[in-house]
Amino acid sequence: MNKKLLLINPVQDARLSLGIVAPIRVPPIGLGYVAALTPSDWEIRIVDENVEHLSFEDADLVGITAYTSNAPRAYEIAEQYRRRGIRTVLGGVHASLLPDEAIQFVDSVVIGEAESVWPQVVRDSESNGLKHFYQGQLISLEECVKHRWDLYKLQDYHTKVHVETARGCPMDCEFCSVTTLYGRSYRQRPVEDVLSELEATDYRNLLFMDDNILGHGEIAEKRAIRLFRGMLERRLNKRWACQVGIDFATNSDVLKLAKKAGCLVAFIGFESLNDECLKSMNKVRNLKVGASNYKDVVRRIRDHGILVAGAFVLGGDGDMKDVFDRTTQFILDSKMDGAQISILTPLPGTRLYNRLKQEGRLLLTRYPSDWKHYGFTEAVFKPKHMTPDELEEGATRVYRDTCSMVKSFKRALNSAVQSRSSYGGVIMFSYNRGFRTFWLRNCWHIKDTRSSRIDDWQPDASLTSRESCDEEAISV
Ligand code: SF4
Repeated sequence: MNKKLLLINPVQDARLSLGIVAPIRVPPIGLGYVAALTPSDWEIRIVDENVEHLSFEDADLVGITAYTSNAPRAYEIAEQYRRRGIRTVLGGVHASLLPDEAIQFVDSVVIGEAESVWPQVVRDSESNGLKHFYQGQLISLEECVKHRWDLYKLQDYHTKVHVETARGCPMDCEFCSVTTLYGRSYRQRPVEDVLSELEATDYRNLLFMDDNILGHGEIAEKRAIRLFRGMLERRLNKRWACQVGIDFATNSDVLKLAKKAGCLVAFIGFESLNDECLKSMNKVRNLKVGASNYKDVVRRIRDHGILVAGAFVLGGDGDMKDVFDRTTQFILDSKMDGAQISILTPLPGTRLYNRLKQEGRLLLTRYPSDWKHYGFTEAVFKPKHMTPDELEEGATRVYRDTCSMVKSFKRALNSAVQSRSSYGGVIMFSYNRGFRTFWLRNCWHIKDTRSSRIDDWQPDASLTSRESCDEEAISV
């Protein structure tokens, strides 16, 4: 009989199960890569707790991925399986940043990119020889493994196809864990390889997962141009969204080509309307453009029929109490099609985390259970010019004031006209309402239970794989 591998993407909080609303759900693509590298005599199932309840079915090996805010839930799941004698392996960003914390709750931790070590993990599991740590290396994307898309419940995700054309980022933003984890390397897949992947799928709508589809530097931009041209030459007729840097607006030829190749929405990290905040975040490219020119950036991209969804981070040291009204006003005045508001969150291992810790400004530090509050909707530190409550209430107000039913509808109409696509209107309406719902649900649930839940769950000390816990590692 085949052995069974269960791959799990946990929710942030078990009581918030199925909490990520459909329009903003993205399948856990890392698990698809791991599945593709598992020998064919293993039966594999992927369970994404954002789309289905975890029934704790039987398995021979359980692989879990986690970022920071769902790490406590990952530990809970691992604890359940280990009680039943089933081996557990944890990978993903959080375990890679804090492997000494993670190993207390699982049998093995994969640090870094799992692709280079996963076949070894499976072999060791088959021979009952799992090691505590596996150090993954940065893999070359020249021969990228194809996903096991067949293992996702694609009907539960708004966009069915998620394509990665590059990994890493050479920039060094203070709050970002990408560079902490992978250094400043930037790796790209060959254009022909990406085009073949696109050609192989029948789905029309897709999302490029790269942090910046144009990449970094002249060579990367030329590659993006080759990709857009290739999509046209092969008549792929796709409709896509991408993340891109703010300098997307500077080259009108690239904008025209992207639009022709099917670009519908560009997600851009504006981050802050305050140059002081941009400086402390080390957002070099945004600073070069200058926050005072952001409206122009939105206008130039939208003039080409490409919709703009902006990301803003509130609570930086330069933000005063008027930041909420200013952000709301900017989103509405610039006619930006969608907006994602986050509260500045110090993820472990980042320079931001280290700075706030040094300044004695971290508020929720009973790790690991407090990691669940590090999901970008809560103030987990003392802001400089307001109280944590004022920061949370202000961020909620921005969502309420920009994404009410009436405003979302009017903005979506505008998006449909601008992109000459009714689908563009529908997608932006779902996006804005989706983020608003997600935000409010998180606020009501997690914040209401914040103080009372801190001691709810204590990891079972008898399950730790070390004689004693590494206090230094737990408290980071
Ligand atoms: S926030 Fe974006 S630009 Fe900055 S380091 Fe992270 S991935 Fe790169």
